[in-house]
Amino acid sequence: MNQEQHIEATPSIESSDYKRGGLQKNVYSSHETTTWNCPLCGHHDDTVIKYERGTLGVVECRHCSLIRINPRLINPDAIYHGQEKDYNEEFRLIVSGKQSHHRDKNYREDLNTIRKYKPRGEFLDIGTNVGSFLRLARDQQWNLTGIEPSQSLNKLAREWWGLNIINNFLEKANLPEKYFDIVTMTDVFEHIINPDEVLQAILKIIKKDGVLFIKVPNGKFNVYKHAIRKKFLGRENADDFDSYEHVCHYSDITLRKMIEKNGYKVIETKIALPVQLPVWHKYVGQYYQYPSPFFLDWKTYLGRSTLYHLSKIERLILGGQIGHLAPNIICIARPN
Ligand SMILES: [Zn+2]
Repeated sequence: MNQEQHIEATPSIESSDYKRGGLQKNVYSSHETTTWNCPLCGHHDDTVIKYERGTLGVVECRHCSLIRINPRLINPDAIYHGQEKDYNEEFRLIVSGKQSHHRDKNYREDLNTIRKYKPRGEFLDIGTNVGSFLRLARDQQWNLTGIEPSQSLNKLAREWWGLNIINNFLEKANLPEKYFDIVTMTDVFEHIINPDEVLQAILKIIKKDGVLFIKVPNGKFNVYKHAIRKKFLGRENADDFDSYEHVCHYSDITLRKMIEKNGYKVIETKIALPVQLPVWHKYVGQYYQYPSPFFLDWKTYLGRSTLYHLSKIERLILGGQIGHLAPNIICIARPN
């Protein structure tokens, strides 16, 4: 990503009782956005699906079907350059070990998948954030390194979990060549505005028999959510596509194409568990650290679980292709 293009981040104007560490805004004006060609096929010929937060367009490329945000924020990662004290408050109970993170089940599933391919070795996690994922890999036989461009997140990941984190963008970090056995991007690749450049940079540092693990939200699932809400509830959700931060919305097909055109062979694609985000934060704030009382969550949890199980049946019906019901997609690849 181009650090010279940093926009001036403006503090969040989200609900006043709900303080998050990030700097996302409710509405973005056109001077905060830019247009870009499809990063998969290079064309600029799109069908508009919807707009979010004012000016952010959710579009589908007419040539390759990749869904992307166009116009998108000039520098979407700037929302992560928040204040340490806000992140500290947001994660206080998780850091002290009093609460788990609502994504821990997802992270453990990811680590189990990775362990099947590479139970030991040099492990690089790209876009480590505060280290919520990498902290669960600490007691395994991996030698862990994280890389995170946000200085505040980087500092917290070191302080909270003792993780070894490099404060940079991967493309600029000068890491040793053919060194890593495992490279992961967990809930990261959808944020990246230069996927070719990042995948090429990984190709230089991953061993020939190394494993690239990428997990993204399923773009088709977001299309499905949006369509259902519009048709049956008669309203749109402002954040079906989280367009202020998720700039690409991959399907299993577009993700595979993106990875393979950059010199990798995909060896497995799978449907990952849904993220069971507690609904509690709608009422009291504290997104990560307070699980909701069961009576608030059970319908949503059951709905997400049911869709997840149905998505496996849907995949069988589609002959192996991942359809609209799968919440998240995992792709495992090796250098070709
Ligand atoms: Zn395209």
